[in-house]
Amino acid sequence: MRRFAFPKTRRVDLMSAKTIFQRIIDHEIPAEIVHDDDLCLAFRDVNPQAPTHVLVIPKRPLRSLDELSDADLELAGHLLLVLRKLARDLKLDSGYRVVANCGPDGGQSVDHLHFHLLGGRAMGWPPG
Ligand code: AMP
Repeated sequence: MRRFAFPKTRRVDLMSAKTIFQRIIDHEIPAEIVHDDDLCLAFRDVNPQAPTHVLVIPKRPLRSLDELSDADLELAGHLLLVLRKLARDLKLDSGYRVVANCGPDGGQSVDHLHFHLLGGRAMGWPPG
């Protein structure tokens, strides 16, 4: 596969730069937090696509769903259970959608694993 040809210094910059979500974890920028525990954080999406739109992220800096390994079984299960708990807490009683965009074709724009929890309206299918 062809790799992007960034100059070396630029590549180092990109690899060491914090994502916006890491900056939220580190309390460098504000977010409307709805859940916080040892493993993950959940906060409202700044550009909501539904009446309820929350992001659930691991505190560990995993770049995407694709970076999860067998060793992350507990974390993966925990994230799903937090999504279910939030759906209940946020009263998404008539249903909701959980989305994890992964990589360029998946439409991922922030390179820190996150699950979107969307609800409060009927969702269309297929997604765009
Ligand atoms: P994705 O396109 O799947 O990578 O989703 C990234 C999401 O992060 C988008 O829905 C953005 O609206 C959201 N987002 C970006 N910056 C922030 C922020 N500072 N606070 C809350 N949500 C954000």
